[in-house]
This record gives sequence, structure tokens and C-alpha cells, in this order.
Amino acid sequence: MKIVNSIEELRTGLAQEKGVGRSVGFVPTMGALHDGHLSLVKQGVEENDVCVVSIFVNPTQFNDRNDLATYPRTLDKDCAMLEAAGCDYLFAPSEAEMYPVPDTRRFDFGTLSQVMEGAYRPGHFNGVAQIVSKLFDAVKPDRAYFGEKDFQQIAVVRAMAKQLDLPVQIIACPILREEDGLAMSSRNVRLTPGQRQKAPLIARTLKESTNFVPGKSVREVMEYVVHTINNEQVMRVEYFEIVDGHTLEAIENWTDTTYPVGCIVVYCGEVRLIDNIKY
Ligand code: AMP
Repeated sequence: MKIVNSIEELRTGLAQEKGVGRSVGFVPTMGALHDGHLSLVKQGVEENDVCVVSIFVNPTQFNDRNDLATYPRTLDKDCAMLEAAGCDYLFAPSEAEMYPVPDTRRFDFGTLSQVMEGAYRPGHFNGVAQIVSKLFDAVKPDRAYFGEKDFQQIAVVRAMAKQLDLPVQIIACPILREEDGLAMSSRNVRLTPGQRQKAPLIARTLKESTNFVPGKSVREVMEYVVHTINNEQVMRVEYFEIVDGHTLEAIENWTDTTYPVGCIVVYCGEVRLIDNIKY
């Protein structure tokens, strides 16, 4: 695995690969890798001749300084995991490399970037679009892999690729979970043992709630999920919305869409956990 820190070095290396007709798959990450990330890398390795993974904790997508400051960083361990997974290039740039001058671009993806994460983390998706567009420009991948755990992020990245007319295929990969159902996340290591024990309640409740469809109304299912999770002392639901998976518009009836998805964010103590389920 080649480890590169500069865009120029990455471009030179990948130009050689593309020059001999090799396809390039790309997995952008913020590091502190776990099996969820590795499932994306595995798919990237299988479906392309060359697999590139980036590790960059992007400051412009954090609206909470404390979240940025406490975001786990484990580069040496990440390198070993990527090497073992068959990654060909690790791109690990500095902040100065990605933002030599401030990025003043403002994106507008309408509803897709305004609801849910867009509403609760102002500026988050603008930061995501800034960094992903820069990374796409550096890598120019044929395929890019994103996890469905960040369901709304995939919709935003697809919209961005369309808006900028980028010739990249965006591939959505299923959520990887711990044995007890908790969606794998870099932030899980910040849970105390007590919180970690309670955290699977989120996935369990979402799964249970699928049994009520379509017998109970959308509102009743929403209330069930929110009440069940909020009943646990260490948990606080920030939002739970059942949306059309394509437009991300909230639905009122199950018949409003053929693709209902429930998207949730829960604070478990101080740790912000995200998950979703298809109904
Ligand atoms: P992050 O490092 O959190 O920015 O995540 C990098 C990529 O890995 C994103 O596309 C995430 O959606 C994806 N990812 C994170 N956790 C999981 C998971 N548990 N299962 C599948 N993909 C994931």
C-alpha cells in the first residue's frame, strides 16, 4: 500500500494506473476505522483494479468544536487495517493540503441538505460537499463507496455529483452492525461501558418498529420509537423522522412512498449516534 500525503503525488500515481486502463475505486473516511469502513474498502477492492482510501478529519463539516477536538484519531492502526484489506493507496493529507485557501463555496441541494442532519448540524453538508468534491477532483474515481449509516449523506453526495456533472458512480453500502445490533461507528469508542451496554436499544427499537407497519400509522410508529428510546435515562432522541428515501421529505402515510426510511439521531450521554431503518 502506498501512503501519500500530497494531492500532486496522488494524481501522479493514479495517472499511471489509469494510463494502463485500470479502474479506480475510492472510499473517503475520517479514519478511526472499524469493520463498517472495511466493508466499503473490501467492495472497492473487489470491484476495481485500484482502491484508494482517504483519511481526513474534515474541519469544515464539524459544527461542534468539541466533536472535532474529541474525534478519535488512530492513523497507525488504520494503516495496518487498510494494508490487510488490500487497499492500494492511502491518501492522508494535512489540513493545509486540502484547504490551502479557505473554501468559500456555498452549495444548495434544496430539501436534501436542509432536513434532519442539515437542520441539526447547520453547515455540515456544505462542508461534506466541499471536501468530497475536492477529494473527487484529486482521485477522479470511477466508483465511490459510501455507507448507508449516513443515509442522508449519500443523497447529498449523489446530488453534488449530478450538480457538478462528475463522472463517478456513487455506490451505497449496507450498514455494518455489532453483534448486539449497534451500528458500527468511530464514535462508539467514546461510550462508557454503561452507555455501550444501553446503546443497542436504538437499533432494537427501530427493528421492532418495522413489525407495526402498516398496521400502525406513521405518527404512531414515530411516537413508539421516540418514547421507547427516551424512556432509557442515558438516551435522548434528537430527531426521528420517517421520510421518502429518495426525496427525504417527511411522509404522513405509508402510501406516500414506496421507499419509507426512518432516520434517527440519539445522544447516548454526550455521544451522538446515528442510525436508520427501511420500512
Ligand atoms: P466516516 O469515517 O464516519 O466519515 O465514514 C466513512 C464512510 O464509512 C462513510 O461513507 C460512512 O457512511 C461509512 N460507514 C461508517 N460506519 C459504517 C457502518 N457501520 N456500516 C457501513 N458503512 C459505514
